[in-house]
Amino acid sequence: MTEQVVIIGSGPAGWSAAIYAARANLNPLLFEGTPQAEMIPLGQLAFTTEVENYPGFPFGNVREFVESSVAKDRHWNLPPMPDEQRDGKPYYAVQGVELMELMKQQALNFETRVVSDDVVDVDCSGSPLRVIPANGDAVESQTVIVATGARANYLGLASEEAYKNKGVSACAVCDGALPIYRGKPLAVIGGGDSAVEEATYLANLKGAATIYIVHRRDQLRASKIMQKRAMEHPNIEMVWNSTVEEVFGDGNLVTGIKLKSTVDDSVRELSVGGMFVAIGHTPNTAFLHGKLEMNEKGYIQWAAPFRTLTSVEGVFAAGDVADDYYRQAITSAGTGCMAALDAERYLAAHEA
Ligand code: NDP
Repeated sequence: MTEQVVIIGSGPAGWSAAIYAARANLNPLLFEGTPQAEMIPLGQLAFTTEVENYPGFPFGNVREFVESSVAKDRHWNLPPMPDEQRDGKPYYAVQGVELMELMKQQALNFETRVVSDDVVDVDCSGSPLRVIPANGDAVESQTVIVATGARANYLGLASEEAYKNKGVSACAVCDGALPIYRGKPLAVIGGGDSAVEEATYLANLKGAATIYIVHRRDQLRASKIMQKRAMEHPNIEMVWNSTVEEVFGDGNLVTGIKLKSTVDDSVRELSVGGMFVAIGHTPNTAFLHGKLEMNEKGYIQWAAPFRTLTSVEGVFAAGDVADDYYRQAITSAGTGCMAALDAERYLAAHEA
């Protein structure tokens, strides 16, 4: 059997493509990935807490809606209701996992078929295309939508590698509340929205000590509203013009980082119980083995402006895997929709 549309990826782009393809009667098959691979199920939003900027999800008690919409066997995946108070009001913004579970449910409601496996290759040498999963048989398809997203970068230091999960992490939201970090001064590396968001999250945890944002310049790249949040936070301290030269510890846990100045030759040590790296992302395109045209950072390049076509006929790209600029859940969802429409039009044009 040859599929009409195979979607690779289960973030906002993947599920949006699935919803549109399913409603166009294209009977999509979606590979959602496994936690073992680069592309994780439900994408990067699975690592996020409150999502304040996804249109249609204003503050409010969204939990009741989520619970009534998502299949009961996935309720275990929903995070506990946050109890933070903001301006005296309970803070019930939709959580990243909740938003993704809602998107998944919406795709399932239109009978998207989901495979919990990773794709390790796509054979683009002929038509139909062949999607090769890690486990199981190759799947033939007339079109493929690549929506595998991107993943966090690390600094690349040997000492950073040695202390991964012992005080080094690339996800404050996933790991910051763990006992090894509790009440300790912590460093967040980077100057973008991610760094500020992670630092703010850590600084708001109960009993938080000082959270240092270590940045290689003297100006943040983060958006103005995020900058303001960090600058005004009593627990956040900026460490400008500095890069991390070494992570050190007692062998079991991180106890500090060695910082090198970017303006002179000075070096200093900062006592911290953890380092959170927030220095950008790498697209999950290794499994394509360079078969699609990509930019210098490895992001898939669209073959025409504002069209999700790639350099290979019948292959479309959506979401962060093709976007090193906007990288928002809403833009990913938008391009997922575009890719499904592009695939639908491609199939109509190539109808036998
Ligand atoms: P960015 O690329 O925006 O920022 C990366 C930061 O890391 C930069 O400040 C960069 O420094 C620094 N950096 C890069 N490499 C190194 C290195 N080797 N050593 C030290 N520092 C380094 O990535 P983000 O992940 O922060 O954001 C990605 C996108 O996602 C952005 O478009 C952002 O707006 C968006 N985002 C939005 C959020 C929201 O709206 N709530 C939350 C999080 C992300 P330099 O500035 O000098 O280049």
